[in-house]
Parts: sequence; C-alpha cells; structure tokens
Amino acid sequence: MEVPSRVRGLQACLDSAGCDALLVTHLINIRYLTGFTGSSGYLWVGPTSVSLITDGRYDEQARGELYATGVMAEVIIGRSPSAIREALSDHAEGVRNLGIEAEHVSWAEQGRYARDVFPSTTLVPSSGLVEALRAVKDRGEVARIEAACAIADAALATVAPGLEHRPTEAVFALELDAAMRTGGADAVSFDTIVASGPLGSRPHHMPSDRVIERGDLVVIDFGAMIDGYHSDMTRTIAVGGSAALDATQRRMLTVVGEAQAAGVAAVAAGVSTAAVDTACREVIAAAGWAEAFVHGTGHGVGLDIHEAPRVAATDAATLLAGHVVTVEPGVYLPGHGGVRIEDTVVVTESGCRTLTRAPKS
Ligand code: ZN
Ligand code: ZN
Repeated sequence: MEVPSRVRGLQACLDSAGCDALLVTHLINIRYLTGFTGSSGYLWVGPTSVSLITDGRYDEQARGELYATGVMAEVIIGRSPSAIREALSDHAEGVRNLGIEAEHVSWAEQGRYARDVFPSTTLVPSSGLVEALRAVKDRGEVARIEAACAIADAALATVAPGLEHRPTEAVFALELDAAMRTGGADAVSFDTIVASGPLGSRPHHMPSDRVIERGDLVVIDFGAMIDGYHSDMTRTIAVGGSAALDATQRRMLTVVGEAQAAGVAAVAAGVSTAAVDTACREVIAAAGWAEAFVHGTGHGVGLDIHEAPRVAATDAATLLAGHVVTVEPGVYLPGHGGVRIEDTVVVTESGCRTLTRAPKS
C-alpha cells in the first residue's frame, strides 16, 4: 500500500473545505492515513505538518506502525487526558478555522471541543474528506480485499456440503465463521447472516435455532477481514438442489441471478451508480417483483464494510477505476423466503473484475 501520499491528498483538500487544518478523530480514517491501529488517538493534519496524538498504551505501537508505512508524522504521547487536551490546544494556536469530522463527532464531543479544547478557534464541520480518498483503492488495498474474498470463497466451499445434514442456522454460521478464521481471516467482516426457508424473506435475519431442511433456500451473507480490509459476499443455496424447490423459489433464483449478472455487466469507470442499480432493478421489475427488492443494489467495501460509493438510485455517484463495490440484488417474498446474490467487484476502465468467486449455481 502507498500510505504516505494519502495525507498529502488530504492536505490538498483543506483549502477548498474551508479549513486551515483538520482534526481527524475517526479511527478508521486515522488508520487509512497513517497505518496506526490503536483504539484511541487524534490525527492533526495541517497544511504541511501531521501529528498523531495518542496515549501511553500506544507509544511503541504508534511509532512502529508509522515507521512501517513510512508516514512522516510527529508522534505525541499524552500521559493523561489533560495532557492530550493540552497537545490539541497547542496545535490550534494561530489556526482560525479547524475542520472537524462532522459525521463522526457527537453533539457532546463537539461541545467539549468548542468549550474546553479550542475556545478561540472556529470549528468547521467537514464531511467525507477522508472517505472520498478511501473510495479509490490502491493495488495493495485491492490485494487485501481479494485475499479476504478468497478466504470467504474457500470457507463456503468447505462448509456448504454440511447444509444437507440439517444444521441450525446458528451452528452453520458458526462453522462458516470458524472456517474463515482457520483459513487465515483476522476476523469476520460482520455478523454472518444465515436466513433459511421462510426466514429468508428478512434481508438481515440473524442466525436462529431453526433447523435447515431440504427444499429450503438459504441466504448466506458473510465476509472475511484481512489487515483491516473486508470482503462481502452473499450466496443463496437450494438445499437438496433446485429439484427440491417449488416453482416460485426456482423463479426467484433465476430472476435474481439474471439481475445480479446485469448489474455486474453494467459496472465500469464513468458509469453512474444509479445505472448499475437500474440494470438490476429492471430485471426484477420485469418479473413483477419490483416491490420485493427492498434495498439498495450495493455499496463500497474497504476498511469499512459499508463505505463510499453507495450503489443506489439515490445519492448517485460516478464509478471510478479502483472503486471496490458490491452488486447485491435480492427478492424477498414472505412465505416463500428470499434470494440475494452478492459479489464484491473492483471497477476498471472497461468494466470490472469480480473478487468473490464462489459458484452461484
Ligand atoms: Zn453482504
Ligand atoms: Zn453488502
């Protein structure tokens, strides 16, 4: 990963954001900009200088992580909350407008900053500055996401045959999580979704003690994490094969499969995310199920499981080469269950490359 250029990219945005400096408080943004993975810290980004301010637990770790990424930042260790406050106040001397990450600072924190830490500085709410940089991945980031996707693919291949042996949703989810961890994942990306039979009509159903039976459609939405980077994939498996399904379930699988393929085919640099959403939605609407596709088509994936850009008709963004997004249409019919199929893809100039490769049949 090419980390040091990220802070320079952010510094180049300060002027247009109306800030003399930016206080980065969102830990995932700090990790992205510096490589620091501690659970507490502030990154002060001035026009030409950068300081990481954290506490005594992270002295050695912070210096080691910044050394590893090659980020040239001053590391300041505050041995008490008041020392950290003082370090922040010192940095604000002579700064007129200080950007605050408005999406990540609570009402109470903003009040404390204004009253106790930066009393003679104007606080400027800023939004999405680091997130916009994060949306376009470099090669090292794509490699980490691709490795996480490969672990998820292999884990599903290992445990999927067990669906024939009537596990509960909860036990199957646990086996899948364990297979990802033993396969090399640092963690799972999010709470694994296993939604079987009639429960599949709830898009974000949490694994229950329902026993998975032959003839069930099982929606399995899961991911692995590598070095902070997530993967995200959904497969819907027909237990006992498609012969065990009724006609509606079979049609759901066909329609969602076609919708998902149409969405992936629409992805390319320069294309609006709304166009990808429409490509999926038209197929499902033609089948008469427009109302049953109850969520957006996809989202960016990276250090967060859900990040910019959103793939939806609202908030339309333009896809850029290096964006990593999901395409995940679904149809949910109470009484019949649900089908969702999701891939994580990296956008290229001419289309995209699919990183999640588990079979869909
Ligand atoms: Zn997912
Ligand atoms: Zn997703």
